Amino acid sequence: MPENESPRQASTAPHTPTVTEHGSFTHAHCPCGWRGPARRSRDRARTDATEHASAAR
Ligand SMILES: [Zn+2]
Repeated sequence: MPENESPRQASTAPHTPTVTEHGSFTHAHCPCGWRGPARRSRDRARTDATEHASAAR
């Protein structure tokens, strides 16, 4: 039976990046270890996070 159909594979863990503010900068980071660049705009950081979540699949 195909193992890649298992829903419990660690390699397919969902990316759930969060956005953190540091002073006047904001950056996104993900439990997988990915970290987005520091942005002055929170919107930008969110875009980074969204792009990572969809690109890392
Ligand atoms: Zn990730």
